[in-house]
Amino acid sequence: MRIGAIEAGGTKFVCGVGDEHGNIVDRVSFPTERPEPTLERVIDYFRDKKVEAIGIGTFGPIDIDPSSPTYGHVTTTPKPGWSGFDFLGTMKRAFDVPFGWDTDVNAAAYGEAVWGAAKGLDSCVYYTFGTGVGVGIFAEGRLVHGLLHPEGGHVLTRRHPDDTYEGFCPYHGDCLEGMAAGPAIERRWGVKGSELPPDHPAWPMEAFYIGQALASTIVLLSPKKVILGGGVMHQKQLFPMIREEVKRNLNGYVAHDAILKGIDDYIVPPGLGDNAGLCGALALGLAALRVQS
Ligand code: ADP
Ligand code: ZN
Repeated sequence: MRIGAIEAGGTKFVCGVGDEHGNIVDRVSFPTERPEPTLERVIDYFRDKKVEAIGIGTFGPIDIDPSSPTYGHVTTTPKPGWSGFDFLGTMKRAFDVPFGWDTDVNAAAYGEAVWGAAKGLDSCVYYTFGTGVGVGIFAEGRLVHGLLHPEGGHVLTRRHPDDTYEGFCPYHGDCLEGMAAGPAIERRWGVKGSELPPDHPAWPMEAFYIGQALASTIVLLSPKKVILGGGVMHQKQLFPMIREEVKRNLNGYVAHDAILKGIDDYIVPPGLGDNAGLCGALALGLAALRVQS
């Protein structure tokens, strides 16, 4: 099988071709420009690839309600030119194949459930901590949608007692994204996160916010796996700190062995590594093909 995959990010687009086992056999990547030239490159890439379906996992917010007149559009992004852009329609006019369409983080959650860290499980939550914070939710065997789609990066947080940083979210200030995305680390400490040493106080503070959000997610959704990806999570020392914060916040209340005894295997990096996004899009494409045939 040859399935197309598009991981559409705010800074870069990754396009690839893969098979039904999650193997990526070809890929390209280019910067995200305005929508028309960007999609032109995407369409050029797939023109001779003979794919049977294409899955798109994209930055958003996006319209994923099939009954909506603007289904397939990017909605309210500040990214120049993208607000209101008919992303899915543009692709459909170029290729007569089934399309999968969802957020980048829902795609990643799905890819992890099909081939990655949550393989075989009927639920998981996928977080990305990068330029923003995004959350994808796979529950009872399907991706969660609703009025729009989950926006768990914007849950409100209780502030760390030693933190004077006000947060950078233009809507909420000190929501999770405002306090814990990559730019928050950089603005709070005056240096990029990638340049801070592993024993810097930035990391316990980061774990404080992430652990708090995960504890809320765990009581709310009871996911069977929690997967943390994105650039910030390249700081591996965060994992044990976050697990401790989750335990501290839950305080024994969710009395399941996964948390009490096996938390190292419960809050984990993506099983698909940095391929989580592209493999997720691939999984969406594969699912779209199966629905149609
Ligand atoms: P994006 O969110 O744009 O798709 P990333 O997931 O790579 O891309 O996130 C970029 C953000 O993550 C930036 O704010 C960057 O400073 C931060 N970041 C990237 N690598 C690291 C690292 N190794 N340690 C800490 N922060 C990092
Ligand atoms: Zn916010």
